[in-house]
Amino acid sequence: MDYDVVVVGAGMAGASVAFELATDRRVLLLERETHPGYHTTGRSAAVYLKSYGNGVIRALTAASEAFFRRPPEGFTETALLHPRTALLIARADQAHRVHEELAAMRPFVHDARALTQDEILAMVPSLRRDYVAGGVLDPQAEDMDVHAILQGYLTGFKRRGGTLQTDTDLHAPRRTHTGWSIEWAGGAARAPVLVNAAGAWADMFASSAGVRPVGLQPKRRTAFIVDGPPDVDVMHWPVVSDIDEQFYFRPDGGRLFCSPADETPSEPCDAQPEEIDIAIAADRVMKALDVEIRTIRRSWAGLRTFAPDRTPVVGFDAVQGFFWLAGQGGYGIQTAPAMAVLAAASIRGEANDLVARSVVEAMSPARFRP
Ligand SMILES: Cc1cc2nc3c(=O)[nH]c(=O)nc-3n(C[C@H](O)[C@H](O)[C@H](O)COP(=O)(O)OP(=O)(O)OC[C@H]3O[C@@H](n4cnc5c(N)ncnc54)[C@H](O)[C@@H]3O)c2cc1C
Repeated sequence: MDYDVVVVGAGMAGASVAFELATDRRVLLLERETHPGYHTTGRSAAVYLKSYGNGVIRALTAASEAFFRRPPEGFTETALLHPRTALLIARADQAHRVHEELAAMRPFVHDARALTQDEILAMVPSLRRDYVAGGVLDPQAEDMDVHAILQGYLTGFKRRGGTLQTDTDLHAPRRTHTGWSIEWAGGAARAPVLVNAAGAWADMFASSAGVRPVGLQPKRRTAFIVDGPPDVDVMHWPVVSDIDEQFYFRPDGGRLFCSPADETPSEPCDAQPEEIDIAIAADRVMKALDVEIRTIRRSWAGLRTFAPDRTPVVGFDAVQGFFWLAGQGGYGIQTAPAMAVLAAASIRGEANDLVARSVVEAMSPARFRP
């Protein structure tokens, strides 16, 4: 079967670019797993933070806001963003970091402000007074409905005539004189453009296609759910993060989602949590918060995949028709709408005015080629 574009990987990256392309292209979206979103996309903390990541990430996050607030007609029945706020907390020995973080945040979050110990304890009364000295509030942080975003993209993609095929593990696509020829158990397809949205496997997939890897590193991050302090309503707490990102916790239903904010290098795999990472996070959370963590209700881990400069890799490789959409790190949900629009424009050979040209250039795989 002939297509215009084959996209490999139906996590947030692949689903979003497939949706954008399907308006006027024949698109095949291939996913190894039975359920799209099974890997990193289904394991995130679901926070939309305008102040997170480097300048490229912040530009993409800001440019994605309009889509989240006003998605295309029929995309979803539910709101994609929900008010939350985020709080960076500092101990006395970290107090000098408050003004550094505030200065870094202000250009993107104009109403970010430093909070006193009393203001922090009024927001999160279970924090220990002898632990927290001050902090920074990001009033614009929001929760994202990741499930609704992914399903919106996949459903919209199919409605636009796209073909999603799960349980299909693709390797060793062949470059022919007209484009790419791909085969998998029980099928085959051809297309001039192949999009590598394989998440943690993106470098491995590139190698199998005869394309030089760009040096992506998957890094494991652990998360788990515990009960909050007894008789305390945590539902309206902010996302609370150590100012040096040594741990964070956030409300999850009536419970708490916790993470040691780990970044342990890993091979691409179905990541699983390590007991030691859970123990480290539990210890750090209990030092900051008046809570006894006895039972871990649920735990998981996911791979956040970074390029060496922590900027995503988006653009055509020198190998003709091979398009990178990888290295989304810890920001691949909040940046997906803008990244998908500019990736689709680039695949069509059109100019993109959603973000500055410098952002497009910063993401090009050409930066890893001598
Ligand atoms: C604990 C944690 C917290 C996070 N918190 C946030 C957050 O608050 N906000 C935010 O924006 N981001 C967050 N992230 C990051 C975000 O989840 C990722 O950046 C994003 O999900 C990456 O999407 P992806 O599509 O690139 O990868 P994936 O979702 O992993 O999708 C890649 C897909 O490719 C498929 N695949 C690979 N190779 C092949 C092949 N050869 N053939 C067929 N299919 C293949 C895989 O099966 C997989 O489904 C977090 C991540 C973690 C782990």
